[in-house]
Amino acid sequence: MRAVRMTRPGVLEQVEVPVPTAGPGEVLLAVGAVGACHSDLHVLHAPPGLFPTPMTLGHEIAGTVDSVGAGVTGWSAGDRAAVYGIIGCGTCRGCLRGLENQCRRIPPGGIGLSRDGGLAEYVAVPASRLLHVGNLDLTQAAPLTDAGLTPYHAVELARPALRPGTTCVVIGIGGLGHMAVQILAATTAVRIVAVDSSTAALDLATRVGAHHVVPAGPDAVEKIRELVGPAPDGADVVIDCVGVDPTLTTARSVVATGGQLLLVGLGGGTLPVRPVADEPPTIPLETSVTVPFWGTRAELQEVIALARAGLLTADVQTFPLERAPEAYDLLRRGEIHGRAVVVP
Ligand code: NAD
Ligand code: ZN
Ligand code: ZN
Repeated sequence: MRAVRMTRPGVLEQVEVPVPTAGPGEVLLAVGAVGACHSDLHVLHAPPGLFPTPMTLGHEIAGTVDSVGAGVTGWSAGDRAAVYGIIGCGTCRGCLRGLENQCRRIPPGGIGLSRDGGLAEYVAVPASRLLHVGNLDLTQAAPLTDAGLTPYHAVELARPALRPGTTCVVIGIGGLGHMAVQILAATTAVRIVAVDSSTAALDLATRVGAHHVVPAGPDAVEKIRELVGPAPDGADVVIDCVGVDPTLTTARSVVATGGQLLLVGLGGGTLPVRPVADEPPTIPLETSVTVPFWGTRAELQEVIALARAGLLTADVQTFPLERAPEAYDLLRRGEIHGRAVVVP
């Protein structure tokens, strides 16, 4: 079968590989759609040794069950499913609480991160990772598993603070950010302020429910301050889906005293945290900072329910498998709006 693999660090190419077989407890999925996540670019350019090579990338997967391995019940050929990408150890404190995204034994990994992913005609995954998607199109179902799930989890973490009439700033309106805006619009009554360096992304933000848009850059803090007022007031919640120094600076400069910063983007920036009494601190007093990771299976089921209710729709640009490397090139250059989805 055809697969798009990281053959060595930094190199993504289409190759021929054998069709995998479903081991005990696994299903063989005919891949219907795979979202191209910005994290794949981080994986591709990570220092050698951090991720296995060769490895088929793609951790945002939806498909149709082709065959099932020994011991699998509840799934049969023809069933359509979304794939929860994390494979926790199942026995640590995080996993036992249903928080496989906090697994304490298996380092951040999963399907397409520590074993072969979905950029291929077929992928073998544990049957326990599958969730029914009803009549959703598979190109819609795939982005839900990460671009939808990750911001949903971040919103869940901040939900007690997302009171009606409060303000949430979302920075980076790409694959994750445009879903974050919709999740906020569908599940809260907060005022949504979207920030991005691309005008096309800001247009998308407005289309999907942002109340205000602010171009990233030197004036962003002042523009957001015009909306939320001067410190110590500010944005109740900031979700940064970029995570580079300039966005982290914007985030900490606009968050309210007692507010919440959720650092979703893995851009490698630094957030200084310096507790002091005698000068303005680097982050306001009583502010909490969280680095959310992906989400839980239960949350993915809720994300799918939101989509099936018509409240969450990925803005999708599709590419055939052979054009996957090109899709990632466009993503790297900031030329994908919404989510690029590969259809093998
Ligand atoms: P994307 O490329 O689709 O979107 C990024 C958006 O940020 C684009 O709209 C881009 O214009 C904008 N942007 C870039 N630099 C900016 C800046 N300086 N100021 C304002 N906007 C800027 O990426 P994505 O797939 O949505 O992923 C976003 C980030 O989240 C990546 O770092 C990815 O690795 C990370 N991620 C984290 C998790 C997690 O579990 N924490 C899960 C998935 C992705
Ligand atoms: Zn991802
Ligand atoms: Zn675990």
